[in-house]
Amino acid sequence: MGLFDYVSVNDPRFVCSEGHDLRGEEFQTKDFACSLGTITISTDGVTTRAFGGLGDPIDWRRPLNGSANVYAGCSQCASDKWRAWVEFVVTFEDDKPIRVERCPPDARDGKIAKRTTEEEG
Ligand SMILES: [Zn+2]
Repeated sequence: MGLFDYVSVNDPRFVCSEGHDLRGEEFQTKDFACSLGTITISTDGVTTRAFGGLGDPIDWRRPLNGSANVYAGCSQCASDKWRAWVEFVVTFEDDKPIRVERCPPDARDGKIAKRTTEEEG
């Protein structure tokens, strides 16, 4: 069905490869209940969850543990042709986001670089 959950990020660790602060961008993840709920990651490491009404509410009540791919478009890197895709792997331990890693580490090594090559060719 292509469902997901929203992730609201208020954490300075979410920065694109060009250094733009991504707080306020609309992140999504497919790695939890996919209930169209909202997971909010705050600066103080507290994660809150609002169930979206779809999927399994029992699943949703379990604390977040393990890794999740969380992605958004950086609106500051956007052009009229594309929106820069930024993806993170966030590792949770009992709802606490203990690790935030951007992947690929440099967007220029990923999709944006490929697109540029195509345009040059
Ligand atoms: Zn950016």
